[in-house]
Amino acid sequence: MRILLLGGTREAGALADALAKRGCDAIYSYAGRTAAPPSQPIPTRIGGFGGIEGLRRYLMTQKITHVVDATHPFAAQMSWHCFEACGTLDLPLLRLERPAWAPGPADIWHRFTSLEDIVDALPPNPSRIFLAIGKEQIDLFASRSEHFYLLRFVDPPRGNLPLPHAHVTIARGPFDVAGDLALLQKWAITDVISKNSGGTGARAKLDAARALQLPVLMADRPSLPRTATAGTPYEVLRWLDHVADRGV
Ligand code: NAP
Repeated sequence: MRILLLGGTREAGALADALAKRGCDAIYSYAGRTAAPPSQPIPTRIGGFGGIEGLRRYLMTQKITHVVDATHPFAAQMSWHCFEACGTLDLPLLRLERPAWAPGPADIWHRFTSLEDIVDALPPNPSRIFLAIGKEQIDLFASRSEHFYLLRFVDPPRGNLPLPHAHVTIARGPFDVAGDLALLQKWAITDVISKNSGGTGARAKLDAARALQLPVLMADRPSLPRTATAGTPYEVLRWLDHVADRGV
């Protein structure tokens, strides 16, 4: 058995630890979006594969027998690519997926099917927005430059931001409620924009928004391929045992 683990999430890191403890033959794959990704206890590769065909070639030349897609729930392109590539090679594929966040009674959430829809729904009056979506899609908000945006990135931005009224704070999660509460208050934030990533590492901003009774504009997850899924690294190990027993 030789496993490809598509990563970039905290859960993928936890799974890499579990695979290393078991002595599994596994490779961790990063897209290479951050300057210094956390090191992993299994061999690591960094960078795109070159689309579905590139991934197919990689899977064949590396003699991969099982694939675990532990990418972020918004990394839909990678999930579709590995679904297609594994399908044509008949390789077993499992997605490690964390549950989405759900609003509680005291939360003020407005839900949207995409970030584009959130752009269109922003209020006309200048607001002070915590745009907590990472760096990749902030261009979408360039058309709404009347607002102030607080941004939180892992690495300092390269070049000019597309948003004229913005402040960037550099930090890597996990974040805590006290810290996020202080951040929202310091910058007099009026609205929080989030993707429904799920998990614990980035949840604090939602708890802080609830404490301050701020509206959260929440983008729902993109649609992902129908594959077998696991909720925890432990379930992934059980799946690996199961497919190995069946000789798959
Ligand atoms: P994406 O839109 O689904 O993927 C774009 C391209 O990036 C893919 O087609 C692939 O390039 C490459 N790629 C993505 N994940 C990869 C991986 N684990 N290993 C090798 N190549 C990968 O992905 P994204 O939303 O830009 O996310 C990139 C990475 O950041 C993912 O690993 C994800 O887990 C992590 N991440 C994403 C978010 C988010 O909000 N999107 C948040 C936190 C972490 P090729 O077509 O050339 O193979």
